[in-house]
Amino acid sequence: MSRKPTEDLLSALEQIVGPNGALRPGPDQEPYLTEWRDKYRGATPLIVRPATTQEVSRVLKLTYAANVAVVPQGGNTGLVGGQIPDPAGHEILISLDRMTRIGAIDVANNTLTVEGGAVLADIQKAAAEHDRLFPLSLASEGSARIGGLLSTNAGGTNVLRYGNAREQVLGLEVVLPDGTVWDGLRGLRKDNTGYDLKDLFIGAEGTLGIITGAVLKLQSMPRDYVAAFVGLRSPSAAIDLLARARSSFDQALSCFELIPRRGLDFVLQSFTDLKDPLDAPHPWYVLVELSSTESPGTLAPRLEEFLGAGVEEGRVENAVVAQSDGQRQSFWQLRERLSEAQKPFGGSIKHDISLPASQISDFLNRANQMVEQACPGIRPVPFGHLGDGNLHYNLTQPEGMDKQAFLDQWPQISRIVHDLVHEMGGSISAEHGLGQLKRDEIKHYKSDIEIDLMRRIKYAVDPKGLMNPGKVL
Ligand SMILES: Cc1cc2nc3c(=O)[nH]c(=O)nc-3n(C[C@H](O)[C@H](O)[C@H](O)COP(=O)(O)OP(=O)(O)OC[C@H]3O[C@@H](n4cnc5c(N)ncnc54)[C@H](O)[C@@H]3O)c2cc1C
Repeated sequence: MSRKPTEDLLSALEQIVGPNGALRPGPDQEPYLTEWRDKYRGATPLIVRPATTQEVSRVLKLTYAANVAVVPQGGNTGLVGGQIPDPAGHEILISLDRMTRIGAIDVANNTLTVEGGAVLADIQKAAAEHDRLFPLSLASEGSARIGGLLSTNAGGTNVLRYGNAREQVLGLEVVLPDGTVWDGLRGLRKDNTGYDLKDLFIGAEGTLGIITGAVLKLQSMPRDYVAAFVGLRSPSAAIDLLARARSSFDQALSCFELIPRRGLDFVLQSFTDLKDPLDAPHPWYVLVELSSTESPGTLAPRLEEFLGAGVEEGRVENAVVAQSDGQRQSFWQLRERLSEAQKPFGGSIKHDISLPASQISDFLNRANQMVEQACPGIRPVPFGHLGDGNLHYNLTQPEGMDKQAFLDQWPQISRIVHDLVHEMGGSISAEHGLGQLKRDEIKHYKSDIEIDLMRRIKYAVDPKGLMNPGKVL
């Protein structure tokens, strides 16, 4: 059972991190206590911002001895409230935003060692400076930090080709709840020496320890990129195109993102500098991207031929292949602004689900009907990483409805959606994690044995339950 921190403990923690590393309640704490969706608001008597692993360890030794709970935070871009402390104000927030060092690259081993607070965009840049690719890529990459990305096992737009965050890491350094440092910073691609401990911490959402360092796996830098914006009649046409693109392009197929017309309309109305790449509207779109290490200009003719055949055979309504890197980026803007573009249209009830790609069309038909029945006029805006079977099944409120009255229906609507996902063999959290948002919801869908094993692991690593309590379990 965790305790409220005493003033003595708070002063001792401040001494460890120094005046630049501690924030008492006040306006400077604000950015750490609210989150992107404005759904959770926390409170804390102290934010500590350690500058080294040793400082993290010293902080945890004190909090552990005093039975005080802690909440790790990276870039605060998480979408399930995992990084926000309890509003009661008894938990210490530990931010890694001062641990941003990017170490030396090992070109021969294709690895890069970074501190837990390194920002994803900076890691990508450091790899690119050595002609290497760090392939993890998501719209929050300018703020999300590697400790948070690994703790949520983040996905993003390149999973189709390179896998989730879990697949991008070879070694970790973690500070355990009692302050012990586990140095697993090894850059080995083969290491069958017992349980893979790093995999315990990846996706644990800060409930088992604090990730303070990582050895990341790098890839060859593609030389050739091409993207196309494709108009389609239905999700099943998109799934058919995905299967054909896989056969035609194999490893070169790196992104395959689904966008509904309603989502594109929201983006075009919210961001007037962006333009519809196609002349006429289509019910659905996919953004397809290919990349390879071959010479620039190799992929574009192949993609044009592939899509041209689709148009001739009536499988594709229309398509445009980007003629420049600028145009390719503008296609990506249309995809990446989708979440933000929903805000002016009222409240949104959001889901992050995955299913076998073959089930997605059926799911959308059934789910749309069910939510319309539950809330007439509801506006589905399902979009996302179709290539991974991952949809953000977002539901915007009916026009003219009171926002709060709509958001109050979140539990009932989510139950309908999640029951259907479960029935169809899918997951209710594809890439965002459970955090606070889905902590109770998951109990309906995971088997008793899975929940029991998770609890036993949690107890073995964090017997006092002080590491990010109330999240995941
Ligand atoms: C616009 C936008 C787009 C997004 N797109 C995607 C997407 O495409 N794919 C995707 O997967 N996610 C996406 N996200 C969600 C989010 O960016 C990811 O979950 C990201 O991995 C969170 O990283 P962070 O550093 O911000 O972590 P935070 O939000 O700070 O924390 C997330 C969780 O990790 C824990 N944590 C943080 N740092 C550490 C650490 N060092 N050690 C242990 N635990 C830690 C926290 O306690 C919390 O439980 C998006 C978010 C936004 C705002």
